[in-house]
Amino acid sequence: MAGEPQADCLFCKIVAGDIPATVVRETETTVAFRDINPQAPTHVLVIPRVHYRDAAELAAADPAVTADVLVEAGRVAAEDKVDSTGYRIVFNTGTGAGQTVFHAHAHVLGGRGLEWPPG
Ligand code: C5P
Repeated sequence: MAGEPQADCLFCKIVAGDIPATVVRETETTVAFRDINPQAPTHVLVIPRVHYRDAAELAAADPAVTADVLVEAGRVAAEDKVDSTGYRIVFNTGTGAGQTVFHAHAHVLGGRGLEWPPG
């Protein structure tokens, strides 16, 4: 069921501590960890502890936790000192947009020039 931990979900396993991750911040509702395949000097994923397949589903079901994810993204950027130079918060949504893990997550990318539009 949406919102419940999924046995086959990689990020639910990271939340549970069953798969290792380089965690940079944790709150009651979120976990933030460094991406294993970083695309920028700062590349951190902020995920809700609850399982929803993407950001839109999370937002529809739990606006408060969605806000927590965004607040944490800002804190990650501040701690990595990329807030002054600019950073990007990305929610890939759907396979066609590059989503590969179907547990909502925000990518926080910074520390290099970021082009627009993204590829
Ligand atoms: O937006 P998308 O679903 O493609 O993002 C998933 C991200 O999760 C990828 O950037 C991938 O490198 C990352 N990942 C990770 N740790 C894992 C598995 C995937 O950081 N164990």
